[in-house]
Amino acid sequence: MAWLIDGKEIAAQIKEELKKEAARCRKEGIEVTLAVIQAGEDPASGIYVSNKKKACEYIGIRSLSYNLPETAKEEELLSLIDKLNCDPAVNGILVQLPLPKHMNEERVLLAIDPKKDVDGFHPENVGALCIGQPGFVPCTPAGIIELLKRSGAGIAGKECVVIGRSNIVGKPAALLMLRENATVTIAHSKTKDLKELCRRADILIVAAGRPKMITKEYVKEGAIVIDVGIHRNAAGKLCGDVDFEDVSAVCGMITPVPGGVGPMTIAMLMHNCMASVKLLQ
Ligand code: NDP
Repeated sequence: MAWLIDGKEIAAQIKEELKKEAARCRKEGIEVTLAVIQAGEDPASGIYVSNKKKACEYIGIRSLSYNLPETAKEEELLSLIDKLNCDPAVNGILVQLPLPKHMNEERVLLAIDPKKDVDGFHPENVGALCIGQPGFVPCTPAGIIELLKRSGAGIAGKECVVIGRSNIVGKPAALLMLRENATVTIAHSKTKDLKELCRRADILIVAAGRPKMITKEYVKEGAIVIDVGIHRNAAGKLCGDVDFEDVSAVCGMITPVPGGVGPMTIAMLMHNCMASVKLLQ
């Protein structure tokens, strides 16, 4: 049976470390502040935003909330971002996605000051990651690296296959694994013989968005399997992109869903908020 990588436990450790750091900042008179903007009434976004605010409260990060109605004009959102960019009391700005259909996501993300872009989606931060410069790293991929490091899984020299090439998970996860000196292959929907490719991986990162797609036939014995997918079935039960029961019989380490990558995303967002203090100094 595989060793379980406990994302809940690791995320809790990170939050404790950040709590201490936030207290140190407060002693020096620095109040770390995250501005969270939600445009529209997407119910899932509402839950994500509320979880982010709770995490801020726990750590001691001040959070400011801005709710724009579904009908708000893109210009209103852009002018709010501009105001927050110029406010020296605001360290991080997060615009919850998805935006209402009439807004241009690219234009909105581009408007955020890269030094306050705690989601790491601004092209300047994406570019910094590509060329190995410091900058904000997207939270879910950053969480994957922390999970691996804090579980004692060596990355350097390992064969890593990342399934998925989205801008928020697959591509940054692959770049981070490369930065950690893994040999990286990115697979996607047009990849030929995915099973064969995956069976070469010492570390398999799955971010395909397909429930239980990865079975033991895709996994080398003893491999480390990181499951990024989140799906809810009709009964409300969560599962990932990996068939957990099947795969955990052959792999060496595995992240569960829930309780694996999921909790790390918010922990790394909090990490980015604390890091933003240094960037603005
Ligand atoms: P996207 O839908 O944006 O990307 C999915 C990627 O998987 C695409 O690159 C696609 O290829 C590839 N893919 C789809 N089907 C296959 C297949 N059969 N074989 C090989 N590759 C395939 O998803 P995201 O990256 O945004 O998210 C992936 C999963 O992670 C989702 O379940 C999402 O809910 C979850 N997620 C979890 C987070 C967390 O905090 N735990 C955070 C973010 C996402 P192509 O490019 O060719 O279409």
